[in-house]
Amino acid sequence: MSAGITTLDNTVAALAPEARRLFDRLYDVAMSEARIVPPKAMEGWIAGAFKYLAATPEGVLEAIRRQPIIHVANRVTGQATLFNAVRSQRPIEARGEGDLAKEIEGAKAKCSFCRPLEQTPANTFGRIGEAKTCANVAAYDGYHGLVIFEDHSPLRFRHDAFAPGEIADLFATSTAWAEKAHAEDPQARFFFLMWNCLWKAGASIIHGHAQMTVGRRFHYGKVERLRRDALAYAAKYGSNYFDDFVKVHEALGLAARYGSVVALAHLTPAKEREILLVADRFENPGLPEAIWRALKVYAREDVKSYNLAVYMPPLGGPDPEWKGFPCLVHLVDRGDPAAKTADVGAMEMYASAVVSADPFGLAEVMK
Ligand SMILES: [Zn+2]
Repeated sequence: MSAGITTLDNTVAALAPEARRLFDRLYDVAMSEARIVPPKAMEGWIAGAFKYLAATPEGVLEAIRRQPIIHVANRVTGQATLFNAVRSQRPIEARGEGDLAKEIEGAKAKCSFCRPLEQTPANTFGRIGEAKTCANVAAYDGYHGLVIFEDHSPLRFRHDAFAPGEIADLFATSTAWAEKAHAEDPQARFFFLMWNCLWKAGASIIHGHAQMTVGRRFHYGKVERLRRDALAYAAKYGSNYFDDFVKVHEALGLAARYGSVVALAHLTPAKEREILLVADRFENPGLPEAIWRALKVYAREDVKSYNLAVYMPPLGGPDPEWKGFPCLVHLVDRGDPAAKTADVGAMEMYASAVVSADPFGLAEVMK
């Protein structure tokens, strides 16, 4: 049997001593089993609703009666995830893309991003490249801009024609935008680049676009939290947290090399199929292609709605307080756009991520 999240304890037990030491320094694992007792009258429904779990109705019932739960916690950052494959939201019948494509195409007639010069505001320093950027009409922060993609459809990443050069262009455009903001206000140093694809991921406008902000005084809360956790780790162990974090994923078989960028199937994903790209810096020339490859993985996995978020040290030259902090690109699947329920609830907001997709399975697709 190949490695999987349900046998994480065995995989960890088989690690070489050095890798095991690092794993124990970074992670805690608890295995448990949820046992339920369905009444006879429920059996038929269970066999149908969860038929992806086993080949026979009896197999499905057994999988529901005893559900393995794997609780993984990052001791350094507090990020934690509960895995239970039974919670898979996978639709039983493969859903056609027709309705979604129609809805995207139908939004074109009234799409302001298809006419950015008339229907989107500019930032105070203007736009980058004629009409590639605009200001957000309802801003998150003092500096908030958007990169409007050429293609109206946000599902372009699923098409064969989608090329790494498009991500490189996004990087060049967003960097030029952030530098303008930073030049206008040198205290605005904390550049955050993000991309919400479709409404499940928080996008209110269908037309493909990325967003960027530049914050003042300190970085956004989660980025600053990670910086402090990594500093505390370095002070305690005399070792770079991010190097050790990558080593642990490599030892478990959860890493792939995309040129000079490491791609990880994250062991404590925020939600389904989280991929983390670790690059030495945002300017790493191989980073756009690594993102392109990660998006190809998403296309293969039939992901339609996702978030992408980039963590990096502040603008304006090396800052000793950020020494050893790399560039981290997060990608996470936000579920089926046809599903009405939100993919996050009280558990995810206030306790722990709850995830069904197995990072070991994702890693196989990433390699
Ligand atoms: Zn459009």
